[in-house]
Amino acid sequence: MSYHPIVGKRFNRWPSIYFLGGITITTLIGCPLYLYFYGISWSGFLIFVGMSVLTLLSITAGYHRFYSHKSYQAVWLYHFLTLGFGAAALQQSALKWASLHRSHHQYVDTEKDPYNIKKGFFYAHVGWILFWIRSVDLTNVKDLQQNRLLMHQHRHFQIWAAGFGVVLPLIIGFACGELFEAALFGIGARLFIVFQVTFFINSFVHTFGSQKYGKTISARDNWLGSLLTFGEGNHSFHHRFPNDYRNGIRWYHWDPGKWAIYLLSRLGLVWDLKRTSKQALALF
Ligand SMILES: [Zn+2]
Ligand SMILES: [Zn+2]
Repeated sequence: MSYHPIVGKRFNRWPSIYFLGGITITTLIGCPLYLYFYGISWSGFLIFVGMSVLTLLSITAGYHRFYSHKSYQAVWLYHFLTLGFGAAALQQSALKWASLHRSHHQYVDTEKDPYNIKKGFFYAHVGWILFWIRSVDLTNVKDLQQNRLLMHQHRHFQIWAAGFGVVLPLIIGFACGELFEAALFGIGARLFIVFQVTFFINSFVHTFGSQKYGKTISARDNWLGSLLTFGEGNHSFHHRFPNDYRNGIRWYHWDPGKWAIYLLSRLGLVWDLKRTSKQALALF
């Protein structure tokens, strides 16, 4: 069977359209109104920032660099937390995410690329999720299917997503006496930001910036893209050296995922960090 991740039919996926629309309106209209009339408590603010950072890192350092590219190894607790907070991002299971992402690398800029930028900025950003049907062929993630915890997250995704993405922030909010703020900012605004940050990786840094590490594909390096994507903006480098645990290889490159992975390696929680050799880098 030939591998093809896209069924290729245009289709309005109404549940996703309503959900993303609701999250967007809540964040862009509801949150500013709430802040104008009531402000935000310290606990509400910390729940928002804490949930946002943990969810974003679980996508960039977790779903992306750890599971899709296997750029380092980690203790069981790290698997558990990245699968948990990764599920909280509501971007499907780590198994499906990694399968689509590996297809993106293998077939970039072609029909088989799930978020093919050649179909336009909007399609690569979010159109592929809202208006197209695709099937996910899991034959390119056979290695990940050996991971029992990851398979548990795949089979019981709703439980993981609800537990880490909804119940956890609500419990903390309830304990702090800020249940409503935990729902509005810790779930609503946080999801909006995490969605947009992830979407920009497929749209913005496949459109704007320099093609330092390969002129034949659309991936770009862009410092503004790094800010917008929580450190995934050196995308030309990433497509050339996808197994490197870093995205920004210079110390001044904004890359929270790289710093988090490095810090955890110093604590002995992750190891075997893969780096591109100096000889390979010297070619560019
Ligand atoms: Zn890409
Ligand atoms: Zn990648």
